[in-house]
Amino acid sequence: MTEYPNLLSPIQVGTQTLRNRVIMGSMHTGMEDRSKHLPELAAYFAERAKGGVALSVTGGYAPNWHGWLLPFGSLMTSKKLADKHRLVTDAVHEHDGKIAMQILHAGRYGYHPFKRGASNIPSPITPLGAPKAMSTREVDQTVSDFARAAKLAQRAGYDGIEIMGSEGYLINQMITARTNNRTDRWGGSAENRMRFPVEIVERVREQVGADFIVMYRMSLLDLVDNAQSWDETVALAKKVEAAGVDIINTGIGWHEARIPTIVTSVPRAAFAWTTGKLRPEVGIPVVASNRINTPEIAEEIIASGQADLVSMARPLLSDPYFVNKAAEGRADEINTCIACNQACLDHTFKNKRASCMINPRAGHETSLILSPTKTVKRVAVVGGGPAGLAAATELGGRGHTVELFESLPELGGQFRLAMQIPGKEEFRETIRYYTRRMEIAGVKVHLNRRATVEDLNGFDEVVIATGVVPRIPSIPGVDHPKVVNYQDVIRYGAPVGKKVAVLGAGGIGFDVSEFLLHDPDETLSHWMERWGIVDPSLERGGLGTKLKAPAKREITLLQRKATELGKGLGKTSGWVHRATLKDSDVVMVPGVSYDRIDDAGLHITLSKGEDNESSEILEVDTIVLCTGQESMRELIDPLEAAGTTVHVIGGADVAAELDAKRAIKQATELAARL
Ligand code: NAP
Ligand code: SF4
Repeated sequence: MTEYPNLLSPIQVGTQTLRNRVIMGSMHTGMEDRSKHLPELAAYFAERAKGGVALSVTGGYAPNWHGWLLPFGSLMTSKKLADKHRLVTDAVHEHDGKIAMQILHAGRYGYHPFKRGASNIPSPITPLGAPKAMSTREVDQTVSDFARAAKLAQRAGYDGIEIMGSEGYLINQMITARTNNRTDRWGGSAENRMRFPVEIVERVREQVGADFIVMYRMSLLDLVDNAQSWDETVALAKKVEAAGVDIINTGIGWHEARIPTIVTSVPRAAFAWTTGKLRPEVGIPVVASNRINTPEIAEEIIASGQADLVSMARPLLSDPYFVNKAAEGRADEINTCIACNQACLDHTFKNKRASCMINPRAGHETSLILSPTKTVKRVAVVGGGPAGLAAATELGGRGHTVELFESLPELGGQFRLAMQIPGKEEFRETIRYYTRRMEIAGVKVHLNRRATVEDLNGFDEVVIATGVVPRIPSIPGVDHPKVVNYQDVIRYGAPVGKKVAVLGAGGIGFDVSEFLLHDPDETLSHWMERWGIVDPSLERGGLGTKLKAPAKREITLLQRKATELGKGLGKTSGWVHRATLKDSDVVMVPGVSYDRIDDAGLHITLSKGEDNESSEILEVDTIVLCTGQESMRELIDPLEAAGTTVHVIGGADVAAELDAKRAIKQATELAARL
């Protein structure tokens, strides 16, 4: 008997049967944009189908070039283009999976000058100005283009399509007064605005016949002003159902919304209640999405009747075998997505191929191959942080005999610090995953053991993943008792007073500020209150008023650079960290020189441009150093002198801009080579 009977049970969608309730949601990987990458896209989806996913959805394909996301982006407009997709659909079918093509018109979110929108109202987050408003004829033509793209997807062997009607793209723009001020039959009343998606569905269904899944991705919570009312959302759901949709997928928040919807601080399944609210209104299956990352959570959503299926994208990037592992009672082996966005969405928004920080093979299935070794070696890995854990796990997985040495009593390195930050609790899943996989691979772990050159004698290869130590800047008085570093605070619980100066505003300065301000593991209702998320029956788009969370301390966050603080944080998550600290009244000060520290506090000079400097004393109880790191490299020279083959990875290799994504990728690539 499986632990996940609901999640793993088949379901009828239209005339087709899905083998379980897991949909791989659409994620633009970058492999869609050029036909030459289709073989890699095929391998990427094939691996997920092999891992048990019932239905995968591709990244968005535009129905015409005005709807491109990017210049020369993915497009589905001709038989020639469609026929090239056969290798993708065949690869998925070989593993008994199904695949749908997402049809997405970016509207005013297009990053190009040819974009068309509902009206000529610019997007607040997209460069190159306002879109040109479509003429009435152009709207008609766009409806036909959606239908043509669907027909072409069917020709390419897809089992269905998803019509992208959420996240603020063209369809959302057409149906809301916020972005549609048209006066023709496509604007004015809510009824007129809804005509666009309804006609798209009708025309698509006419083109593809009954035996083809038509999924509609509907925004259930816009999280922007002047958005859909709940009654309008329900009316639209009923209309698209009547027009021929087989299944409704859900989307939360327009891209321009300033409320987090998917980052790690969003509680798990935070929005499943919205799907639960829609489900009784329609007679077709509905799909819950956003921050569903474990089989337990997915099972609970379906068992409780909130949804019929779940959509996960990032959790299937981090572990393509999620479904099979759950089905085989091996859920503890799942590489759980920690919602960091570092290698997936941050890449997508920088026009780089999407991958996964904790699974660098994602999107690189054909080039990063971890096959069983033919020559078993004895390998020592020194350091149990992300780099060392990834190296030991993958080397052990390939069949090498691996021993890991860690000087602390626990594994995890910087991830063990990260998991203690409020809203970053997910990082503990990665430590659990690596620990379990090392156990299976028979990696011998030595804790509380600072490896010496003698310990490492006799190994064929030594991997140095000793990481970093906090940098102590040379500020006069830095050894004053009121000064601590971030490790003292997070790892060793050093006492911190009420008034605090945090020096250094990189990822760790922001994290430490959050750690000092709030308690971890806040409830879903507190989190919703803090961001002003309400029931969409009460306020259009579910947008209410933010309630301030009580802050435990008064914090001043400083950096020497004159730029805005937090500029170097993740593209899709940095704004959330900045907003959280702002909402807790953290004072952010750029352009600082640290003069000295004494009993009075922190003495600084503020530079406000040429010849405009002022000196100040911050009368604080505690000064926390988050001023970067330095590599721990003490073993390298003696090992090399002793003739040992040494490989240096992670923070021990490069401390500047130390980041786990680079560390894990470097470790995995090394493991594939040895
Ligand atoms: P970081 O991003 O390099 O930031 C170090 C900070 O220290 C900077 O603000 C820098 O600003 C300051 N600094 C550097 N040298 C200094 C010196 N000698 N004296 C005084 N100030 C100095 O490093 P981090 O914050 O330690 O983070 C390390 C890495 O962890 C990041 O790069 C990131 O990849 C990862 N991380 C990310 C996140 C996230 O995105 N949420 C969270 C945690 C960790 P000034 O030079 O302008 O003063
Ligand atoms: Fe999840 Fe982070 Fe991997 Fe993206 S990069 S799939 S958010 S773990």
